[in-house]
Amino acid sequence: MKSVAALMAERVVCLVEEEDQPDARPLANGHALLRTLAVGVCGTDREIAAFTYGSAPAGTDRLVLGHEALAEVVQTGEGVVRLRPGDLVVPTVRRPCTRIECPACRVGHQDFCATGEFIERGISGAGGFMTELFVEEERYLVPVPPALGELGVLVEPLSVVGKAFTQLDAALARLPWEDDAPRGLVLGAGPIGVLTAMGLVANGYRAVVYSREPKDGDRALFVRSIGADYVSSESTDVAGLVRRHGRFDVIIEAVGVPAFAFNTLPALAANGAFILTGIPAPGPAIDFDASGLMRDFVLQNQLMFGTVNAGRKSYEAAVRMLEQFLVLFPDAARRVIARRISLDEAPALLRAGWGGAKTVIHVAEAGTATRDEGLRAAG
Ligand code: BGC
Repeated sequence: MKSVAALMAERVVCLVEEEDQPDARPLANGHALLRTLAVGVCGTDREIAAFTYGSAPAGTDRLVLGHEALAEVVQTGEGVVRLRPGDLVVPTVRRPCTRIECPACRVGHQDFCATGEFIERGISGAGGFMTELFVEEERYLVPVPPALGELGVLVEPLSVVGKAFTQLDAALARLPWEDDAPRGLVLGAGPIGVLTAMGLVANGYRAVVYSREPKDGDRALFVRSIGADYVSSESTDVAGLVRRHGRFDVIIEAVGVPAFAFNTLPALAANGAFILTGIPAPGPAIDFDASGLMRDFVLQNQLMFGTVNAGRKSYEAAVRMLEQFLVLFPDAARRVIARRISLDEAPALLRAGWGGAKTVIHVAEAGTATRDEGLRAAG
């Protein structure tokens, strides 16, 4: 069985042949055997491939990458109640810490883990999904309707956006008098940025994406095709952005570049929320006007928060958001995935530290699980 792994000691990402065959072992209670269909590649994978983030499972030196997966149920063990062979699912990423004093993990909200001792499949402490077969517990598998097909691979990144929106709703609840067409600014026109912009438009926001790509480039056209506006940071500074659009009730940062993010703080409206979702690689300290920031935040009741990962409810919300996007922006939703490669091609891409458009690794075609089961039944 082939997998894409980061070998920690040698600091290399390569294709490995696993001796361990998940389909050769009996399935534990509540577990399912899954065939990976597709895996998205994101900035976190890039950090892991550059060995600035991530860790191998305890006692090993090898981390199988991949946390944005779409898979097909091949077989279910005793105690699996809802899933059947052939069902499409998305595995969640984070597993709870084992500490009794972590109330969030104890009630299934490991995306709010307080100890930091959680495990993330494909990222830290557990193998991921850039592999042909894997085993997972039913409670960590979120069903995806077949109509979404390949787009199901976007459920994980969209779950992070969905969680940000849920947190934003909580922040907005303190402003019950606000109008219902607020202004939202998205920083960055990468895959998370455009998914966030789609979410804002779908939720009735007047949305603007601010990013460094040119004002008439492909990204700008893409953003405008979903009904958001696009402003290029190359040709318009933050003051120009505010002159054109006013200040924003919410700014969602989706690029992980601190200097760019903090530079846009003057574009945040009174009572506004600034949400950070990007995870920057360690870098030099930057200079910025901390007293101005503190003054504005206090005098204008502003707030800033970070949000990471997502719980099961946000995955389920992401499935519904994708269905909605397919109705509202059918072409654009299908065009978020810009590039498809094979498992064999993935190590070179990861080593090259690519950036930009959404790349998805195609591992297998859907439908093989039910065929296998049929053969098993017939045999
Ligand atoms: C993943 C999250 C994860 C985070 C931090 C992101 O790329 O989508 O699930 O929690 O990285 O490791």
